[in-house]
This record gives sequence, C-alpha cells and structure tokens, in this order.
Amino acid sequence: MSHEIRTPMNGVIGITNILIQSNTNPEQIRNLETLKFSADNLLNLINDVLNLEKLESGNIVLEKQSFNLEEYCKKTFKVFESAKSKGNVELKVELKLSGLANQVNSDKMRLNQVITNLLNNALKFTEDGSVTLRVSVLDQSISNAKVRFEIKDTGIGISQENQEHIFEKYQQARTDTSRLYGGTGLGLAISKELVEEFKGELKVKSKLGVGSTFYFEIDFELDEKSTATNILAKRISQQLLTGMNILVAEDNAVNQMVLKRTLENWNAYVTIANDENEAVSCAQMNEYDIILMDIHMPKLDGFQATDKIRRLRKNLQPIPIYALPASGSEILNNRNDYQLDGLVSKPFKPNELCAILSQHYVAARKEKVTS
Ligand code: ADP
Repeated sequence: MSHEIRTPMNGVIGITNILIQSNTNPEQIRNLETLKFSADNLLNLINDVLNLEKLESGNIVLEKQSFNLEEYCKKTFKVFESAKSKGNVELKVELKLSGLANQVNSDKMRLNQVITNLLNNALKFTEDGSVTLRVSVLDQSISNAKVRFEIKDTGIGISQENQEHIFEKYQQARTDTSRLYGGTGLGLAISKELVEEFKGELKVKSKLGVGSTFYFEIDFELDEKSTATNILAKRISQQLLTGMNILVAEDNAVNQMVLKRTLENWNAYVTIANDENEAVSCAQMNEYDIILMDIHMPKLDGFQATDKIRRLRKNLQPIPIYALPASGSEILNNRNDYQLDGLVSKPFKPNELCAILSQHYVAARKEKVTS
C-alpha cells in the first residue's frame, strides 16, 4: 500500500511546486505555500506511520553494506548542519573513532534515520546553547566494534515522569508540544524500534530546563578485509608492531636477512633460529607472539618442529605458528593437518605479512592487557 499512498501525495506536492513557480499573484502564492506546508506535513506523517507499521510487523531486514563510520558520521552531520542551522544554537560533532579500523558492515540508511531524527528533535527543542553529536568506540576486537552514539542538547529538557512515555507512539511530553513545536510523537517510537533492529537500546538522560542526551550503543560487525588493510596501513605508518616478539625459524641466510630487516622496520623484536631444533628449544623457553616457520630445513622439517612445539607447550599459552613455504608448494592444500595457524608463502608480500602480524599483535596485546 505504501506506494499507492505516497504517489498521489508526491503528485500534490509536485503540482503545488509548479504552481508556486509559475504564479505571479502574491495572494495565490501565499495560499499555495500554505497548501504545500500542509501537504509536506501530511506526507511526513504518512511516511512515519508506514515506517512504524513496517517496523512493528517485523518486515524489516537490515542491509549490510561496508562503509567508513567516521566519514559517514561527518557527512551525516554536515548535511544536517547545512540544512538546519539555527541562529543561537551551536552545532558540534565529536568523533572518537580513531581506535576503529573504520569499515563497518551495517545499514547506513537506517542508522541515518535514527541519528537525523534525534538531531532534528534536539534542535527543535533547543532555543540557545548547543546540539552535539558524539560518537565513540567503547570496545573493539578483530571482528566487532561497540560504538556509542550520543545526541546531546541544552534545550528544554524532559521531566522524569515524561521520560517514561516519550518513546511510545503518538506521545509528546506536554499537551502544548504539538502547538508550540509541531510533530506527531512518532519520531522517537520509530527511532526506538530501529535501534532495537540494530540490537541496541535507545535511552535518554534529561533534566527539565537543562537539556537532554539521547544515546544508544551498536555492536558493529567489521569488514574484515578492509579492517586488515586499515590496520595494516596504520601499523606500517606508525610502526605499531613495536615490541612484538617474533621467532623466525629459517636456515637460508638471505631469507633470514630479508625477514629480519622487514620485521625490524616495523619495530618488532626478532629472534632467528637457524634450524628447527633451535626453534623448538627457543619456543620451549620463551614466550613469542608468533612463530614464522620455514618448512624445508635440514634436521627436522617445519611440520615435525611445529608438532614438537605444540606437544612441549601443551599446558602453556599456544603460540600462533605460520609456515613459510615456497609459493606453490604442496602444503598449501593441507596445512590444517599440521596444526599450523596459516602460511605466508615466499617470496612474501610485505603487505600480507604485516596484515597477519597485525592481527596477532592486536590479539596478543589485548590478552596481555586483560590478563
Ligand atoms: P515529535 O517530535 O514529532 O513530537 P517524537 O517522538 O520525536 O515526536 O518526540 C516525542 C516527544 O518527546 C516530543 O514531542 C517532546 O515532547 C519530547 N522530546 C523528544 N526529543 C526531545 C528533546 N531533545 N528535548 C526535549 N524534548 C524532547
């Protein structure tokens, strides 16, 4: 039905616009502008009712699209700022997203609907002072990021009693709200439902005459491909592999030199084991963040050495072990049989190697911080 209802309204508004543009009679223009104002309001109301209907009937499926959250927040705020700025009210944006490898997989249109709705309300109920959009990362792992959104204003505020009702359909804090500020009392009900679709909860803190803060938290899934690339870019530029403790088991002198130089450029700490036996005893006596293991070595091969290390460290924290095979070698297909965490084929690509190390670096630091 939504198409059938919206189409005639678009016709009414479209024709009214044409009439306003082509008319020269001032009185008729005033009448047409009133007609357009009412038609716009009616269309907004229809859109709200249809939206809520759809949300309540569970007919909404969030889309997943990869986007940069920081850029997106800046853009959303900019659009709002240029459309809505109001004399006495300062519009501010505070983004604390630098810890986030930015690409997230989520539904940006619906997120936009919530943020814009809350920003519009904040501005509508604020005569002077400020309206702030604050977005910050609370927690982050390799695959997820918990982000808090806050929309804060210094407006009229909402009494404790009314805070309990404003999220209900068609509810406004006061009986004169509609007359003074317009609106229908559907915006917050829609925003609340939408935030719930994102598995979050929309809440408010407010004090009459002081202002309100609407806030919610969303656990975003990170786009792992771009996350790795972003982490990588940061790590390379800021040398953030600082102090990562890496054991390299490699018998070839040239390969040893190339790996050592590359890893030290990223500020990692490198120990070279010249053969697999040496690697086994190093791994037995020390804690490493990761081991890079050549496969074809003279005494033990890389698989036997990995097996030995796993057995010797049975009761200790497992160390990620990556094989360093020559590219195209047969182990590429059956690495899981050897308890390897992965492989980096030679000649290695610095970007790929750095992305792998970054992931383990993050994981290793996190464990150390929390333990
Ligand atoms: P509408 O704004 O169309 O009335 P909403 O559902 O968006 O409907 O808001 C419901 C009511 O909550 C508003 O009418 C107002 O009384 C109160 N409210 C919402 N946001 C704010 C705010 N930022 N400051 C003060 N009151 C607010």
